[in-house]
Amino acid sequence: MHPDRNRTLWLFDLDDTLHRATPHIFDRMNHAMTAYVMRHLGLEEPAANELRREYWQRYGATLLGLMRRHAVDPDHFLRETHQFPDLDRLLDYDRPLRRLLKTLPGRKIIASNAPRHYVDAVLAAMGVTPHLHAIETIESMRYVPKPARSSLARILRRHRGLARRVVMVEDNLDNLKTARRLGLTTIWVSRDPGRPAFVDVKLKSVLQLSKHSRMPWRRQTASR
Ligand SMILES: [Mg+2]
Repeated sequence: MHPDRNRTLWLFDLDDTLHRATPHIFDRMNHAMTAYVMRHLGLEEPAANELRREYWQRYGATLLGLMRRHAVDPDHFLRETHQFPDLDRLLDYDRPLRRLLKTLPGRKIIASNAPRHYVDAVLAAMGVTPHLHAIETIESMRYVPKPARSSLARILRRHRGLARRVVMVEDNLDNLKTARRLGLTTIWVSRDPGRPAFVDVKLKSVLQLSKHSRMPWRRQTASR
């Protein structure tokens, strides 16, 4: 293999980056999380929603609030709130994704805030698992989701190796902001207008990465 082939490390988000999770999948997750809070804490729906809002603001995720305030088992919560027996019917993605991930030069890894069983199922349903080198999920981030700097830094320590350039591909701007602070190249997958200064490249679809050799890459020094 050519020595430069693995010099680029790609960190791909999953939901709303490699496939469209809004509205079907996210809607289902959202309801499942509220139902879990209602069941677990014995709350009516408005109170459960209010608590979720509070935990989201204070901790960045419903899960973190439940863990810290109610000693909820994170694996139980993640299993119960990410049940998709009909995933094939719900999944909305572009078929050429498989070819893109197969041919894109470099090491490709998934960095998702979702749980492992769900990420594995989505990747398998899209047929892209064989083209990925590693999968990082909320469990391997010790339940501290992106955009936490510590979680992203941990992933980089594991995978950066000899990479000359690390590129994060995401729909979420907060995550990209952390990525830029850690010295990464940032690609925003979005149809929203504008482009914040910490975004290097904006793409309407991840499929546009097939033109990666013509990307205006930012010069990157390996900061560890
Ligand atoms: Mg996303």
